[in-house]
Amino acid sequence: MSSETTWPAGVIARYLTVGGATVDITLDIYDDDRYVDATSTCTGCKDWERQHQKRTASQTSEDARRRAEKDATEWAQEHAEHCRAMPRT
Ligand SMILES: [Zn+2]
Repeated sequence: MSSETTWPAGVIARYLTVGGATVDITLDIYDDDRYVDATSTCTGCKDWERQHQKRTASQTSEDARRRAEKDATEWAQEHAEHCRAMPRT
């Protein structure tokens, strides 16, 4: 199965774990661009984390999106370096 080449819909970034699974990051922007959720999900152990950002008055929705994405990326990289769970095929 060539799961590495086919990204699920909505996945904006993907990290390969040491166990051969991936950590997928998805973004959810809602409520008139006021909230951004960046969710990192490990396809190996099913662990996940959600970074929730609320756009402040001085921020653009782009700022909130970048901040959520950055936090999610840090978690994903950290997790990918240590997770040894293998993906279920
Ligand atoms: Zn994992």
